Amino acid sequence: MVVVMAPGATDEQVAHVVEKVESVGGEAFVSKGVVRTIIGLVGDIDSFHHLNLRTLPGVADVHRISDPYKLVSRQHHPERSTVWVGRPGREVPIGPDTFTFIAGPCAVETADQTLEAARMAASAGATLLRGGAYKPRTSPYAFQGLGVTGLKILADVGELTGLPVVTEVVDARDVDVVVEHADMLQVGTRNMANFGLLQAVGRAGKPVLLKRGMTATVEEWLMAAEYIAQRGNLDVVLCERGIRTFEPATRNTLDLSAVPVVQSTSHLPIIVDPSHAAGRMDLVVPLSRASIGAGADGVIVDVHPDPETALCDGPQALHGTALRELAQAVRRMPPLLGRAPAADRSRSG
Ligand code: PEP
Ligand code: MN
Repeated sequence: MVVVMAPGATDEQVAHVVEKVESVGGEAFVSKGVVRTIIGLVGDIDSFHHLNLRTLPGVADVHRISDPYKLVSRQHHPERSTVWVGRPGREVPIGPDTFTFIAGPCAVETADQTLEAARMAASAGATLLRGGAYKPRTSPYAFQGLGVTGLKILADVGELTGLPVVTEVVDARDVDVVVEHADMLQVGTRNMANFGLLQAVGRAGKPVLLKRGMTATVEEWLMAAEYIAQRGNLDVVLCERGIRTFEPATRNTLDLSAVPVVQSTSHLPIIVDPSHAAGRMDLVVPLSRASIGAGADGVIVDVHPDPETALCDGPQALHGTALRELAQAVRRMPPLLGRAPAADRSRSG
């Protein structure tokens, strides 16, 4: 931590800061410039926070140098992590050595629709199945998902196709029932800062897919991941899904720079959701290719056997030629960047 004194701060004011820092067991190193004095602090950052250094006379600014998050930071865990999803014998890796393709319907609507979407996903090379049983919709009049019935359908379809299942949980009270039916819990963009929910999924004992809040900075997103990690769960995968900007041409603006930025500061894997970023099927393939190029550890996309009848997000659901194109990109591009398709890796491999 660095304290920047205001121009003209007196020696007494500098000495007062040093005294305060030493009173909590820290060390203060004073450097006097021509105009300004700065004080470098070494010691326990949390105890410095309690000093409210910014309020002391003569202090202009206080900067942190280390990350505000710890458990998810690469400063404390330099190796990038791999998160394994699914029960033993069927585990799928998400991490730096592989590329993981996740696909499925936006929402579970019927058993047939979910099974058909899962088969489309599997034949395109997906190794994890997505599908929403609890849908956090902007409008209270829109389809809200089938709830527990949807979870049962997903679990059955996962069983039939051999694909581990990731599904969203929107309420801390539903965590137990979702854990019973799914292999990975998703926290959506609207709940990234729902700290009670983050703590509940942190205690759930299953991997978590944490989407970026649509108005969250990378740092706020990593702090949200820290809430989960702090409850003992380091199996967190981050998902960039687009942020709100002034640009209306796409539903959200896909922030692909978040991929290398996150990878340089956090050890957690990061995947991209081009479907919810773009909101348009024709953009999903190019944005997926760009995600692979940016170094993402995977992509998660919506597919639907009949997008025209979809109860949620039909316009962005892949099918037909576009899905075949994506399957090809996902098979061919990651190996060029030194990544194996997740399908080729087992826990021991
Ligand atoms: C979803 O993946 O179904 C979803 C609702 O995504 P997001 O939270 O990114 O909008
Ligand atoms: Mn959706």
